[in-house]
Amino acid sequence: MGHSVVCLDNFSTGRRENLSHLSEISRFHIVEHDVRKPFLFDVDVIFNFASPASPPDYQADPVGTLMTNVLGAMNVLENARATGATVVQSSTSEVYGDPLHSPQRESYFGNVNPIGPRACYDEGKRSAETLFFDYHRTYGVKTKVARIFNTYGPRMRPDDGRVISNFVVQALLGKDLTIYGDGQQTRSFCYVDDLIEGFIRLSISDDKCIGPINLGNPGEFTVLELAEMVLSMTGSRSSIVHRAAAVDDPRQRRPDISQAMAELGWEPKVALREGLHRAIAYFDRRLGTSDLAMAGEAV
Ligand code: UDP
Repeated sequence: MGHSVVCLDNFSTGRRENLSHLSEISRFHIVEHDVRKPFLFDVDVIFNFASPASPPDYQADPVGTLMTNVLGAMNVLENARATGATVVQSSTSEVYGDPLHSPQRESYFGNVNPIGPRACYDEGKRSAETLFFDYHRTYGVKTKVARIFNTYGPRMRPDDGRVISNFVVQALLGKDLTIYGDGQQTRSFCYVDDLIEGFIRLSISDDKCIGPINLGNPGEFTVLELAEMVLSMTGSRSSIVHRAAAVDDPRQRRPDISQAMAELGWEPKVALREGLHRAIAYFDRRLGTSDLAMAGEAV
């Protein structure tokens, strides 16, 4: 017999489209609810993904973002406390801020500006981690915290604002690729299927496996390298342009995943080039630019 599961997510028009193919399944239900207000689902496992995660999205409503993370975490933990459910929190590599150590291990406390434009997300997620660990210690709630590093793949919104969707959409439409700053900042990009596999393994792991645990792909690329890869794979003639650097933009980001490997037997399987190939094909279909996409080098 399967587990009953509830997955709390940031619900937007794009998400509704993404879920439409599941509407035939009688055991699948969508409930629209603001996680800042209490709720009660009698289930075995709860995944809490409820928060905007793209910098332009969370900076458009900073107070709402902070409160969604803090009150949402408290409400989800109260739900788990009342029902005995296991609750899995999607935390983030942003808890490390602009890290002074690389790769980032779970034991690193981070370097976060508490009053900058990213703080609503970073400190919201950090406070949520605090609540998770305090509910675990104080009330024995079955909690698990994963720290997600940059993740991408099909079904992202074309206007999501994050770097892979921006560059691919810009390249497919023949627009300039916008690099914020000098492009020497690094990120490590995880394909969505790998990330989901990590979350499922964490959710069914031993109750003692509470994290925090990094989930991400350790392959590290500069933003400039990413732009060049996207240009070559799409065959686009777009140019690269530089825009003002984002405030408090982390200079380097790369997960140490030895804990996930040891405790979950997990590591990512999809290399950036292969994942980009799939993401480009998705955006190509979505934007109807097929004559341009994949005209570049074969993968
Ligand atoms: N970035 C960029 N151009 C864009 C979007 C993002 O140069 O059009 C940079 C951004 O400044 C950051 C990196 O790409 O250094 C990753 O940004 P993203 O918003 O995808 O995620 P973050 O890791 O900052 O949350």
